[in-house]
Amino acid sequence: MTSPAAYLRWHGHGTDPWYNYHYSEEELKTWVPRVQQVASQSETVYGFFNNHFHGYAPENCIQILRMLGVQTQDQARALQRIEGFRKQATHADVRLKALTLEDFGADVPKDALVDAALGRLMDPNRLERAKRIDSKDVEVTRDGELILARVKEYRVELDPMSKAIVHDCEDWGKLSGRKDFCKHVGKFFLSLPKEEALTRLNAIAADRDAWTFSTPSA
Ligand SMILES: [Zn+2]
Repeated sequence: MTSPAAYLRWHGHGTDPWYNYHYSEEELKTWVPRVQQVASQSETVYGFFNNHFHGYAPENCIQILRMLGVQTQDQARALQRIEGFRKQATHADVRLKALTLEDFGADVPKDALVDAALGRLMDPNRLERAKRIDSKDVEVTRDGELILARVKEYRVELDPMSKAIVHDCEDWGKLSGRKDFCKHVGKFFLSLPKEEALTRLNAIAADRDAWTFSTPSA
């Protein structure tokens, strides 16, 4: 039996903060057979390393791709640049900067990045259900900064200025207390241009407490 997609997350087990963690090559090697096992049962495997300003995630990510024998030339060059950066970074006068996969030019599909961003705001089952909603059932309109959408027979309203999402399904009503997305709101973000979806999702995830998720009657 194969599933369409599998997700693997390497959260690290460092301290202060715990995702500030650099996997050693030895540790990563133990993962290779496990990743191959998952890959044999899934059409697509997404692997995520939690990122941190030290930039360990892109390095570990490319290392495991190399171990799996699927590293591209761009990624090989990116890894060389990271290793070069590490050597320089041992000099006290070199200031650390924030590093992301994009900084290293690694070729990460935008879809996977949007998935990862949505994964921080909704559970994987709802995300899968969101993807199964037909795009023909979604209409997005804009009114200044406001984004209004119809998703199936429901409405989604995103107001980035007042940091509010208003939506009217029953599941949303139950989830809004813990600020998780239902499948319709998931589909709403999947329907935005990828770059915009990423920016908006990251803004929400970074400032979740300031956002209001409500229903029209509330
Ligand atoms: Zn909903």
